[in-house]
Amino acid sequence: MKPVIALVGRPNVGKSTLFNRLTKSRDAIVADYAGLTRDRHYGQGKQGKHEYIVIDTGGFEPDATSGIFKEMAKQTQQAVAEADVVVFVVDARAGVSAQDHDISRYLRRLGKPCLLVANKAEGMKEGAQLTEFYELGLGEVLAVSAAHGQGVRDLVELALAPL
Ligand code: GDP
Ligand code: MG
Repeated sequence: MKPVIALVGRPNVGKSTLFNRLTKSRDAIVADYAGLTRDRHYGQGKQGKHEYIVIDTGGFEPDATSGIFKEMAKQTQQAVAEADVVVFVVDARAGVSAQDHDISRYLRRLGKPCLLVANKAEGMKEGAQLTEFYELGLGEVLAVSAAHGQGVRDLVELALAPL
């Protein structure tokens, strides 16, 4: 069985762009606006010796109680349940948001292997704006750029090597 990686994070952080990088496919809908990909979405990928399944998810509102947010939360929770490792994507440029805190709390309680990834980090000084992400309590943060492909190999290695 190939290990399953679930990509979670609030809308617009670059999950679908990362999904396309990881799967080398254009299957996920990459929007120029928040929250278009609301369905769970599966892909297969290979990096070096690692072969894996990736699940892209729409937005993430673990505590929402109605409408599309409830549906998105349900789908994301299913994806997380199916995953061997969760890749939690945040926006290196936007910094930590309240939603990031909500998701972190959920993921810490879950107790599944989790890798914190700060996307959109191209051209940013090593570590510069990333230290604030340590307050999420998920340990190390890996800087990547899904759009430019930077850090994606490290992401796969860090996510899958411990399994
Ligand atoms: P999702 O809602 O989390 O799936 O985010 P998307 O993959 O749809 O991307 C949201 C926006 O962020 C789009 O405009 C992407 O082009 C942009 N984006 C994604 N990855 C990067 C990146 O590495 N760097 C920059 N600068 N923009 C990115
Ligand atoms: Mg998306």
